[in-house]
Amino acid sequence: MFGHETGEERLIAERSNVLEADAFQDVLVVGAGLMGSSIAWLLSKAGCRVVLIDAGSFGGEASAAGAGMLAPGGEYREPSPAARFAIESLAMYPTFVRQFEKESGISIDYRKCGAIELAYDHEGWRALRRRADTQRRFGISAQMLCPSSLSALAPGLNLEGLLGVLYYPDDACVAPADLLRALRAVCECEGVRILENSPVEKIDAERRRVMVRVREQRIIGRHLVLAAGAWSSQIPVSRLGVTTHIPESFPVKGHLVGYRLLSGSLRPILRNGHHYIVQRKSGFTIAGSSEEQGGFNRSVNPERISEIRHAVGSFYTPISMLEPTREWTGFRPASESHAPTIGRVPGTNVWLAYGHYRNGILLAPATAHLVSHQITECAPQVTGR
Ligand SMILES: Cc1cc2nc3c(=O)[nH]c(=O)nc-3n(C[C@H](O)[C@H](O)[C@H](O)COP(=O)(O)OP(=O)(O)OC[C@H]3O[C@@H](n4cnc5c(N)ncnc54)[C@H](O)[C@@H]3O)c2cc1C
Repeated sequence: MFGHETGEERLIAERSNVLEADAFQDVLVVGAGLMGSSIAWLLSKAGCRVVLIDAGSFGGEASAAGAGMLAPGGEYREPSPAARFAIESLAMYPTFVRQFEKESGISIDYRKCGAIELAYDHEGWRALRRRADTQRRFGISAQMLCPSSLSALAPGLNLEGLLGVLYYPDDACVAPADLLRALRAVCECEGVRILENSPVEKIDAERRRVMVRVREQRIIGRHLVLAAGAWSSQIPVSRLGVTTHIPESFPVKGHLVGYRLLSGSLRPILRNGHHYIVQRKSGFTIAGSSEEQGGFNRSVNPERISEIRHAVGSFYTPISMLEPTREWTGFRPASESHAPTIGRVPGTNVWLAYGHYRNGILLAPATAHLVSHQITECAPQVTGR
């Protein structure tokens, strides 16, 4: 894509402690979650030589942990560029998934299942109606349903005391594990070099190239994408030897609980306040979640699990007496601005793609297209969407 390296660049590559003689790459992508790997795939399809570097294993962090709701209905309550971006990304999903399935031969559990938002008190129901009015005006389809019509749409839902229901017909869900398996296959197929267990310690940007330090070795690229999720701002970035500020990222831990239910027993996503239930095609049913700030502590807290079980059991009776088969945690990549950081670090070829918080699975297609387009076109500098 960017042509062959110049004599000067080849010399630099040879002199430095690089992984291999021709290690001068077009793009280095740091972080092989959904964000980094889908950007790597698109850039590679556009003809770039790409190296995808991860501290652990491909897709081993938030992207694998996430529930997989593709649900702007429950997430964006006011019109904003972020809401528009989310609606755009949801619309890209069917093509995104079809392309992976076609190119990898791996089937992906993606369904336009709709989402139901529940209100068991008058204040909650008034708030939902106000929310629906606003959302319709900026492009989210939201319908009021009569609670009595729900026994067919969501059998098992606790109808007792249910005052109102909002239905989002366009919301969807995907199994992130399927998506990641397919993404790895298509990246490999396109020739993306994947380096796992390779934490990037430092990023040094010069005028026309970027170097990273990995296990005391250097890898050099023309461009670099920083997509290391909640860890992104922990990696120092310097420009011509001077440390450069990048927006802070930090983890917001979430607990999830999984149950074995009959396949097809629940179609739509169910949401009540901060709690939700989403079922995979196999019947594996996920209930969430919590939002906890306090660093990178992976432990499962039985109290949080019991809160989630109690909350979801109160509105979905099939799991009220059921023992979970799996409990896990993950780190949502949050930022102070509550919006993803997407764009270029001024004066460098370092591009940022992190901070997608609760909606990174939903936002992966739009982010990947935007970042890969900006790099291939070398668009004007933008930061903090
Ligand atoms: C409990 C929970 C539920 C969620 N539910 C949903 C949902 O229903 N819908 C939705 O859209 N989103 C959901 N999310 C959010 C979503 O999972 C994330 O926003 C998204 O996965 C972020 O992807 P990412 O690629 O930016 O980060 P990650 O998947 O975390 O990937 C970052 C990668 O960077 C690597 N890395 C870190 N440091 C370094 C380093 N120094 N060098 C190299 N690599 C490094 C990590 O090993 C990791 O693999 C949920 C998240 C959680 C935790």
